Amino acid sequence: MEINYFSTRDRSKSLSASRAIVQGLSEDGGLFVPDQFPKLDVSLDKLATMNYREVAYEVMKLFLTDFTEEELKYCIDHAYDSKFDTEEIAPMAQVGDTYYLELFHGKTIAFKDMALSILPYLMTTAAKKNNINEKIVILTATSGDTGKAALAGFADVEGTGIVVFYPKGGVSRVQERQMVTQKGKNVKVVGITGNFDDAQTGVKKIFADKEFEAELLKDGYRFSSANSINIGRLIPQVAYYVFAYSRLVKEGKISAGDPINFTVPTGNFGNILAGFYANKIGIPVNKLICASNENKVLFDFFENGCYDRNREFILTSSPSMDILISSNLERLIYEIAGDDKTCAEMMKLLSENGKYEITPEMKEKCSIFVGGYATEEMVFERIHEVYSDTGYVMDTHTGVASAVYKDYVKETNDKTPTVIVSTASPFKFTRSVMEALEGKKEEADDFELIDRLSSMTGITVPAAVEEIRNAEILHDTVCEKEQMKEEVRKFLAK
Ligand SMILES: *Cc1c(COP(=O)(O)O)cnc(C)c1O
Repeated sequence: MEINYFSTRDRSKSLSASRAIVQGLSEDGGLFVPDQFPKLDVSLDKLATMNYREVAYEVMKLFLTDFTEEELKYCIDHAYDSKFDTEEIAPMAQVGDTYYLELFHGKTIAFKDMALSILPYLMTTAAKKNNINEKIVILTATSGDTGKAALAGFADVEGTGIVVFYPKGGVSRVQERQMVTQKGKNVKVVGITGNFDDAQTGVKKIFADKEFEAELLKDGYRFSSANSINIGRLIPQVAYYVFAYSRLVKEGKISAGDPINFTVPTGNFGNILAGFYANKIGIPVNKLICASNENKVLFDFFENGCYDRNREFILTSSPSMDILISSNLERLIYEIAGDDKTCAEMMKLLSENGKYEITPEMKEKCSIFVGGYATEEMVFERIHEVYSDTGYVMDTHTGVASAVYKDYVKETNDKTPTVIVSTASPFKFTRSVMEALEGKKEEADDFELIDRLSSMTGITVPAAVEEIRNAEILHDTVCEKEQMKEEVRKFLAK
């Protein structure tokens, strides 16, 4: 079955998967979605006998139908290799009667590695397939984790360049150090005086700037995106939902066909949307529990059908989820609206008034989702509680999911086996984690806290953290959000 992609705002033109990957975002500002959902063509029992790379191939071949088997396997084998610190790639820890799917064993110790270690391979393969000779310039806005994962993925990849914008002061110290110490002759990191939404809006503006595009094309450059709006990121993420399910079957925790829940710490709605896609292709899912921090736009949306970004932006201890415009939600809106016009209208309302409301019929169609949110206090308490009860340490993002799940069970008494999607290593957000564990504000330096967490828990400090301890700062540009385009121009003029 051939799958093509069209825009959530205009389904009249469709593109092949490889074209959609190179392009990133549709010209009308919409996101690419598959024209139909394929179904897994291997049994759930068979998947249980496969390793991560094999499962990833089974999933990705369904969606990226214009890639050959050889091309896809080349991409998968180069992405999911010894860059990960465990053979399993995405191991699952059982903690009490809950499962934590650890997606933080890649180069930058957060879940973005799952997609960003393969995107450069998909992108360069896709460009070759389409006879694109321009240099591909990746523009990315980051709330902290995407930036480093994209930099690590694209650094020194032939035929590409990458510019990352992050909110100065809006990311953790480790996140910032990871980015500003990035080596590579094709990379640029810029802090902006604004929050993540400003950075994301600025990048979208550059993408929509036709004049700038023409100017750059003349110079041999073509923009693309490594943000989670690119299907080259979304599709690889479907794989770990399938993989998680297959591990529970393999270990005899469930039988093939039993539904499970996933609880997902959510920001831009990319991760959890991949869970929704996994369900569409045949993974039995009872509920997708969408966990927000105090920036709870998504919780409110699932409660009352109204998406409203007009509210105070709160800086929390889970910065990668400090987001008020969840870009990937547009793909769900398209799905439940069932047509492009409605979706386009709602997105217009969002950009003009900052809000829109879905119909009761649409709301009904997303009943697989349950929204929840956790306050800072709940997150800290939960991290502390799970550690004292079981010895398992989680980061603050995973803490949001774990706290929301605890609430959910209390309210519903749902006994369905549940996987909590764990998105970062506790060593990436050590200050908050240590404050949760020790129950007090920490004065010590981040790296001192990292050492203390390591000796307290007996977990070795990940290589990703050791690497930046004494690394040289290579990027110190900070600009106003209005200056982002100028920074890109300067970088490309070099
Ligand atoms: C990006 C990120 C999230 C949120 O994922 P979305 O796909 O944006 O919903 C959660 N936790 C961590 C650690 C992240 O880096």
